[in-house]
Amino acid sequence: ALKILDTCINCDVCEPACPNQAITQGAEIYIIHADLCTECVGHYDEPQCVVVCPVECIENDPAHVESHDQLLAKLAGLQEKA
Ligand code: SF4
Ligand code: SF4
Repeated sequence: ALKILDTCINCDVCEPACPNQAITQGAEIYIIHADLCTECVGHYDEPQCVVVCPVECIENDPAHVESHDQLLAKLAGLQEKA
């Protein structure tokens, strides 16, 4: 999963760009919910939030490092719930 750093300017551009609805507005900055973020695997070649963020404040989350296969399995789990 990816994470949003505290340099986020709350511009709201990333939230609608996420195919998994993994991004929401938090108390201070926008938040990525790690259980919903597939790093856009299965949807796009690049993480869409990173593509659209104007201040480049989205990075890999060292607390949630996942392989491509793990991300695909997470996506399959999300699609089952949908
Ligand atoms: Fe959503 Fe993709 Fe960003 Fe993860 S990487 S938060 S799935 S837009
Ligand atoms: Fe924050 Fe970047 Fe999302 Fe804007 S696009 S809300 S600056 S993380």
